[in-house]
Amino acid sequence: MSLDALAPELERLRDADLYRRRRVQQGPQQPRARIDGRELLSFCSNDYLGLANHPKVIAALQRGAERWGVGSGAAHLVNGHSAAHEALEEELAAFTGRERALLFSTGYMANLGVISALAGRRDTLLQDKLNHASLLDAAQLSRATLRRYAHADADALAAQLERHPETRLVITDGVFSMDGDLAPLPALAERARRAGAWLMVDDAHGLGVLGPGGRGSLAHFGLDQDAAPILMGTLGKALGVSGAFVAGPAVLIETLIQRARSYIYTTATPPALAEATRFSLRLAERETWRREHLQALIIRLRDGATRLGLELMASATPIQPLVAGSAARALAWSRALEERGILVGAIRPPTVPEGSARLRITLSAAHTESDVDRLLAALAELPRADRAD
Ligand SMILES: *Cc1c(COP(=O)(O)O)cnc(C)c1O
Repeated sequence: MSLDALAPELERLRDADLYRRRRVQQGPQQPRARIDGRELLSFCSNDYLGLANHPKVIAALQRGAERWGVGSGAAHLVNGHSAAHEALEEELAAFTGRERALLFSTGYMANLGVISALAGRRDTLLQDKLNHASLLDAAQLSRATLRRYAHADADALAAQLERHPETRLVITDGVFSMDGDLAPLPALAERARRAGAWLMVDDAHGLGVLGPGGRGSLAHFGLDQDAAPILMGTLGKALGVSGAFVAGPAVLIETLIQRARSYIYTTATPPALAEATRFSLRLAERETWRREHLQALIIRLRDGATRLGLELMASATPIQPLVAGSAARALAWSRALEERGILVGAIRPPTVPEGSARLRITLSAAHTESDVDRLLAALAELPRADRAD
């Protein structure tokens, strides 16, 4: 096959308003972003606590580099595992109230590693319909049978568990990445426990944001390790750094060290990053004002949108989507906002279901109240014809 066959496919994506392009950031991750040569007020990062560009986290990274150098030099099981990684793992286990934690290079890799280590060809996995792409890819890699239950529906899960008693894992996002809503974790945990399946929660968007001390969506509901034995958290979102971890019983962590291929066959992340993460974890836990300010911004945005007659999706988290419907409309809205100096990404299929393309507005503790007001003023000017359906 000639590579020329790829060009018509790209053309088709362009015609369907599904073509994606990257913007070039010319400065650090922060609300006032310099992008493609312009200053834009950005509402699309997952830096929910505003730690990605925090001077003390930067300093921790610099000190880490002075102490540990840059590269880890090898995989954790060869000789890339440092005292910095070890300390971070212990701190993450304590933070999440789990027996042990294990670092992965990314959340995507953590999900691949856990699910393919714990399930195989003869097993069944049950997943929420709106789970993150990495969880679905992990199911494929494991070769287990994947069944999906209706979004955030514990009764639908119970019905599936009844039909498939061999189910090994029930897997859900804690906070859904494109919708911002919370999974009904207590009910899911109860159903999974009764069926003898393990509950795995991907808390990429809950960690740092929800629960006492930002301990995440499980802590928000008071669910401990017995209720939800497998917790995956990412370090590149609210914690502002990079990487991920899995936390749970010691026997789970030991199994992952022996069997998770995306843990074993890859270079450990730089120890300096672990030092930076240790620092940002401390800030995330202690600086409660970040979560309080974020919560105030969420309320300000939602109240303002209601006054404008704009219906944001039902969400109490920093992810506040505005559904446009077609990909073309989502793009038109995103462009209209950009003309007013505001950056909000248009999220289109296949990231979200067909017909539910949306603006994914995200808030950060680094935003000010007047930033939110500017966003509202720009939303008020979205072309009326576009707004009414
Ligand atoms: C971002 C995300 C991941 C992937 O994490 P990375 O560290 O970015 O690879 C996994 N799950 C969910 C729900 C996410 O939002």
